[in-house]
Amino acid sequence: MSYSIAIDGPAGAGKSTIAKIVSKQLGYTYIDTGAMYRAMAVYFDEKGVNPDDENEINEHVDEVDIELKHIDGLQHVFLNSADVTDKLRLEQTGKMASKTSKYGAVRSKLVELQRKIAKSCDVIMDGRDIGTVVLPDAFLKIYLTASVDTRAKRRFDELKEKGQDCDLDLIKKDIADRDYADMHREISPLKQADDAVLLDTSDMDIDAVVGAIIKLIEEKKN
Ligand code: C5P
Repeated sequence: MSYSIAIDGPAGAGKSTIAKIVSKQLGYTYIDTGAMYRAMAVYFDEKGVNPDDENEINEHVDEVDIELKHIDGLQHVFLNSADVTDKLRLEQTGKMASKTSKYGAVRSKLVELQRKIAKSCDVIMDGRDIGTVVLPDAFLKIYLTASVDTRAKRRFDELKEKGQDCDLDLIKKDIADRDYADMHREISPLKQADDAVLLDTSDMDIDAVVGAIIKLIEEKKN
């Protein structure tokens, strides 16, 4: 039997940072499902698809083949056999992913791939709908969140450290807009699963969050 741990929550809550550390400690495979929506978005961008036109999106979904490979412990995403990992975090890709993740054809294609991976190995999977839709029987479900102010400040510090120019108010607005879009879409909106453990990390550092999750896993296993 393979173990699966679901971590859901809004943009910027620290899901991927935490999931990466916990997966390393446990020897699980980390699956970043946001990267899959982003890879799909790279394709739509390259094809010049209008993200507001669902019919156009539907016409292109079947042309996309996404594959995840772990190279030196890092997840790489292949789009139709090309490694697009470097393009995933671009601002433009994030915007396209946020707009196109609401479509049924996009979601069902990626959910199928996510379930297939989870069957094959022990995974920590992060996203928006992992505990509610993708892996309803996950061994442990975490809903990781933090206030909009905290998440915006973390992103601001991250970008500053990379030497990028940024505006805290704009980051805050972008995060609030993404929260709204994810929580109010018709299909698989972001919400805490009934059986998920809520962790508000506004006043917690990374070590404290990792420690809390490891403790929850150990308690459940014993
Ligand atoms: O988590 P990340 O910001 O990389 O996700 C990119 C976009 O993909 C999000 O804005 C969200 O709309 C979408 N997404 C989703 N379901 C998931 C993971 C991500 O709808 N499981």
